[in-house]
Amino acid sequence: MPRLNENYLNVQDSYLFAEIARRVKVYEEEHPDKAGNIIRLGIGDVTRPLTKSAVEALHEAVDEQTSSETFRGYGPEQGYEFVRRAVSDYYKRNNVSVDENDIFISDGAKSDTGNITELFAKDNVILVPDPVYPVYVDTNTMDGKQIIYMNGTEENDFLPMPDDSVKADIIYLCSPNNPTGACYNKEQLKAWVDYALANEAVILFDAAYEAFVSEPELPRSIYAVEGAKRCAIEFGSLSKTAGFTGTRFSYTVVPKELVFTSSNGGQMSLHDMWNRRQSTKFNGTPYIIQRAAEKVFSEEGMKECMENISYYMENARVIAETLRKKGISFTGGVNSPYIWFKCPDDMESWELFDYLLENIQVVGTPGAGFGVNGKNYFRLTSFGTHEKTREAMERFDGLF
Ligand SMILES: *Cc1c(COP(=O)(O)O)cnc(C)c1O
Repeated sequence: MPRLNENYLNVQDSYLFAEIARRVKVYEEEHPDKAGNIIRLGIGDVTRPLTKSAVEALHEAVDEQTSSETFRGYGPEQGYEFVRRAVSDYYKRNNVSVDENDIFISDGAKSDTGNITELFAKDNVILVPDPVYPVYVDTNTMDGKQIIYMNGTEENDFLPMPDDSVKADIIYLCSPNNPTGACYNKEQLKAWVDYALANEAVILFDAAYEAFVSEPELPRSIYAVEGAKRCAIEFGSLSKTAGFTGTRFSYTVVPKELVFTSSNGGQMSLHDMWNRRQSTKFNGTPYIIQRAAEKVFSEEGMKECMENISYYMENARVIAETLRKKGISFTGGVNSPYIWFKCPDDMESWELFDYLLENIQVVGTPGAGFGVNGKNYFRLTSFGTHEKTREAMERFDGLF
C-alpha cells in the first residue's frame, strides 16, 4: 500500500466557489421566477474576448504549424527569445530593467507560485498575508510547510508591513492584492526589500494585476525598488491583463543574483534551480500562445488590453461610487479590478452573501474564503458587463 502525502489532510477543502454555486443553485430551485434575474459579480474570471492583435498572431502561428518549413516542435526551455524580449521591453516601458535571460515563460502564475515551493526546504519560516489568494497557503500546506500569517486589516489598509521581531525566510506579497485590491507604494515595497535583504529572505511577488495599476507613482513591479533583484522573484500573468485565463500564458522572473549558501557551505542559485525544475517537469508554453503573448506585450497590443481594462475599471468606478454613497468603507477599485468592502450591519460574509442573493439576486464572493481577516468583508469584481454591473448597483443602492 502506498503511504500518501498526508499533508493533504491539512489542506482546507476548496469549497469557496463550489459553495457559492451550491447556494445559488438552491436559490434558483426555490425561486424559479427569480433565477433569470441573478447577476454574478463574484467570480474572478474575465469576460472580454481576446484582443485583435492577439487573435491575429494566433492565426498566423497556427498557419506556420501547417508547413514543414515553419513548423515548430519543442521550444527552448525558458521560452522563445522573442517573447522573453517582449516581456523585457514591456518592463522597460514601465521604467524597470529586467534581463530577458532572467525570464521564464510558463502557462500560469497559479502553477508557478505553487511550484516554486519545491525550491525551498521544509523548515523555512513562511509569511503569507491574510486575506489573500488561497494558492500560497494551500501549496505550502501540501508541502508540509509551516505558515505564519500577516494580518491585513482596515488599520493597515490591508497592506501588512514587516515586523522586525519575526525572522522570516520566505515572504509572499500580492500587489495589487486579490481580494482586497490594495496596492503597496514604493516606500512600503522598499521596507519589504530592506527587511528581506537584512534577513536574507526571499520575496515571492505576485504581480498578476500589475496592468491594473492606474496611479503612475505606484510600482507595478518589485524590481522598481533598488536591491530587489537580490531578494525577489516576480510572477506575471496575461490572465487578467489580456483575457488569457483560458489561453494560458505567464512568466516568472528569477534573477541570477539570487544565490544563497547551502548547508555544505557551497552556493546555490535559485535561477539555476528553477531552470532545472522547469526543464525537468515542464515542456513549455505552446508556440502559438507565445506568439500571441509577444503581440500582447507590444505597444499596440498593450493599448488594446488597456481598452478592456478601462472597460472593467468603469465597472469598478460604478461599484465604488455606490459604496461611497452608502457610506460603506472599501478598498480597491482604483488599481485593481476588485472591490473589498466591510459587510454592513455587522454581518458576516456568508450572511451578506445570502442576504444579497435573496433580496437583490446579486452574487459576490464572501471574504471568509480568503482568510480569517475576511470574515466580515465581501469582494465584488468588475469583470461583468456595464449593464449588469449598473443594474446590480442600482439594486444594491436600495438596501441598507
Ligand atoms: C488570477 C490570479 C493569478 C493568475 O493565475 P494564472 O494561473 O496565470 O491564470 C495569479 N495570482 C493571483 C493573485 C490571481 O488572482
